Amino acid sequence: MQYVYLDNNATTPCDVAVLDAMLPFFSDRFGNPVSPHAMGREAFSVVAEAREGVAQSLRCSPKELLFTSGATESNNILLLGFSPQNKRRRFVTSAIEHKSIQMPLRHRLNYGIDLKEMSVTTSGIVDLSSADSLIDRDTALVSVQAANNETGVLQPIEDLADMAHSRGALFHCDASQWVGKLPIPQWFDQCDFLSVSGHKFYGPKGAGVLVVRSGTPRRYIAPILFGGGQEDGLRSGTSNVPCIVGLSVACRLAVERVAKDEVDVQEVRNRFEASITVTLPQARINGASAKRLPGSCSLTIPGIPASMLIANLPALCIGEGSACTSGTTGPSHVLLAMGLSRDEADCTVRISFGRQNTMPEAGTAVEMISEAVERLSNQTCVRQHQRRMSPAEQKR
Ligand code: PMP
Repeated sequence: MQYVYLDNNATTPCDVAVLDAMLPFFSDRFGNPVSPHAMGREAFSVVAEAREGVAQSLRCSPKELLFTSGATESNNILLLGFSPQNKRRRFVTSAIEHKSIQMPLRHRLNYGIDLKEMSVTTSGIVDLSSADSLIDRDTALVSVQAANNETGVLQPIEDLADMAHSRGALFHCDASQWVGKLPIPQWFDQCDFLSVSGHKFYGPKGAGVLVVRSGTPRRYIAPILFGGGQEDGLRSGTSNVPCIVGLSVACRLAVERVAKDEVDVQEVRNRFEASITVTLPQARINGASAKRLPGSCSLTIPGIPASMLIANLPALCIGEGSACTSGTTGPSHVLLAMGLSRDEADCTVRISFGRQNTMPEAGTAVEMISEAVERLSNQTCVRQHQRRMSPAEQKR
């Protein structure tokens, strides 16, 4: 079957140039960078070169980069391992973070940290007055994502990093959804730690980085993996050479292409949104009034549960709430934090366009969704669901 793939915030296809660069390192050039022989030394130089390349693309120093398996691991290495010397106990994050931020921090509640979650506005932006009241002089670390994976809403990182620093705390940004979609911003320099994930920008799955700024003592982070001492002792385990090479190519392509991709992807997303809201006037776009990633669209279609809509769209690949938390039950914590009801959150799909998507695909998606909504609206179980919703919810 020919699919229309509109779930690029979940993952993107690996670029052909990325794949080509990786292939020799699975077979002919398979050495382990810590081996002392010629093939090991070759692998060592390849990883060093890739580190230079990624550092240049992300505008940091190679010494500041740890290669990881992706943003989940980068976030966990930092949030489980970080303990400041000054004995501050508080960690501050937001109510709309990815689970790979929220869960390790909640786990540490068992070990004596104090955790606060900042609220967000109805547009899905971290509320600066909540930040102001929660980031205090006992705060060790503030962690906020650059852009939300469900709504695409961009966060006020400059202000939050300033606020954290002015109170003596360090600042971490989960930039997984930003890199490759928007240019590397000035505020990257303000972050003490950054997490990045390769498969979100046409790199391989299983490749990411944690940036630890050189001014930040590494002794603040205790390793969570012990063994061969790779990545400066912070991430033991044999280096994934093919993925590291692929990541460096994906980073270079992201920087080269981002200006054009941003404009093109936004045009396709805007066309989709303009058209779907005419065809389905009851549909609402979450976070539409905020600055968003160019390809993201969080769409609530009142009365139509996302799970049923997706099951009725065999050729269209879109997300239900957050694909990153699929397998868990319950509505999206992001949408609830923005003030949507459970029913509204249940009736929300996540559509995310990427550089490979075309205008005709946007048109096809509108047709497919509208037809499926019409079919579903006539089904008894959907009518039952609609009856469960309050009249205000149905109208809103
Ligand atoms: N943070 C955010 C904001 C994400 O969107 C994702 C991926 N869905 C992750 C972290 C986890 O990234 P990875 O898949 O590389 O582990």
